Amino acid sequence: MNISDSERVRAVIEGMGFKHTDKEEDAHLLGIISCSVRQKPIDKVYSRIHKWNKIKAKKNLFTFVTGCVLPDDKEKFLKLFDFVFEMSELNDFPNMLKEYGVASPVSLQDAFNTGIEINKTKSKSSNNNKFKPVKVAVNKKDIFPSNEHIFDLWHVKPNYQSDFEAYVPIQNGCNKFCTYCAVPYTRGREVSRPSGEIIDEVVSLMKNGYKSITLLGQNVNSYGFDCDDELSFAKLLEAIGKEGEKLGNTAWVYFTSPHPLDMTSDVIEAIAKYRVLAKQIHLPLQSGDNDVLERMNRKHDLNKYRESVNFIRELLPQATLFTDIIVGFTGETEEQFVNSMKAFDEFKYNMAYIAMYSPRPGATSYKWADDIPKETKKERYRRLSDKLEDVSLPYNKSLIGKVMKVLVRTTERKTGYLSGHTEGKIVTRIISKDKSLIGKFVQVKITEATGFSITSELAD
Ligand code: SF4
Repeated sequence: MNISDSERVRAVIEGMGFKHTDKEEDAHLLGIISCSVRQKPIDKVYSRIHKWNKIKAKKNLFTFVTGCVLPDDKEKFLKLFDFVFEMSELNDFPNMLKEYGVASPVSLQDAFNTGIEINKTKSKSSNNNKFKPVKVAVNKKDIFPSNEHIFDLWHVKPNYQSDFEAYVPIQNGCNKFCTYCAVPYTRGREVSRPSGEIIDEVVSLMKNGYKSITLLGQNVNSYGFDCDDELSFAKLLEAIGKEGEKLGNTAWVYFTSPHPLDMTSDVIEAIAKYRVLAKQIHLPLQSGDNDVLERMNRKHDLNKYRESVNFIRELLPQATLFTDIIVGFTGETEEQFVNSMKAFDEFKYNMAYIAMYSPRPGATSYKWADDIPKETKKERYRRLSDKLEDVSLPYNKSLIGKVMKVLVRTTERKTGYLSGHTEGKIVTRIISKDKSLIGKFVQVKITEATGFSITSELAD
């Protein structure tokens, strides 16, 4: 989501005439797309802005922060940055700068005529682009960021940072309120992007040769729930599937993240039916214990999750399965943790993003005791990582000797190798020095496998 946001921020800034530089010291405008999911990225924001404010003492420099920011941090950031705004206010940024009295490389009068595509007719917001200082939360009502202007953000044509991989936001915000999570407080309530815009963007990407396209949202499979006359998520996938067929199925279309509660059979059926929809499912479990799931307010239990996985295995036997899981959630007993280990045995994940629980200010569980010692969290993290390696290895080994299509993404750190992934997002290092293959699909033969990756060589 932050990559996608940064592509739109960059489009607006470059539309004002600013040019990108790799050196912070050379910049006149520096900004951060923040992430509040864990504390570490927020700590980095503080260390970075202190560095920037030292540069600022010597030259004309303006700083901004946007993205996921919690109300408490927002209040502190207002004292440290020149601009603090929500992503939905991005279209106002040129005017904020103008009202601040900044001379940009081109006249900011023309900011909206320099390639930034803004479809004002579809916008649900007003056109008065006045700089409004960020509202600092003072009561419950103010805690939820307004998504009033999110439609304007989606009308900004992103400056894609890759010519073969792209991220397409389909929704913003979340209504689920998991007790450990700050997203509903940083991104507001769910708003679905009009399906016509999504399909147009995906079709345009496919026509331009993009190979990997990811539909983004905090809760993609509740897409359309906030509208009276919008497609369901399954219907949206079908529409994309049909467009993919017309264009010769030249890409892999992924989505992230769905919620197990809203995972319906028609979503799986659509993936099975259309070739362009990649056979890889990321289904966050978060805990393998029903009591912990209840305290997390996940609104689903193991049985509901199991039903979805069984249906995926039945309809998409070739699909890989990824998950997110938290270890050391407040009050998690050893027995409850072992239930997460058992879930790994049962669901045989191909990949899992394991996080050690950390309380997020503003989230409900922040008020609860963070009573699992750090050492215990680390130990559970290690045990679950080992378990992941065990359960993912047999699938990876089964690929040895097979010829598969992979997307080459980059070079490996070790010379003589490229890096890519299969349709199921199994990472492979490919024995080849041919950098011209980056961004292309190639056929490879799998030669070796570990729990977390496979090695391959180019096939004829
Ligand atoms: S579903 Fe839960 S974890 Fe995911 S964004 Fe919403 S509140 Fe956060």
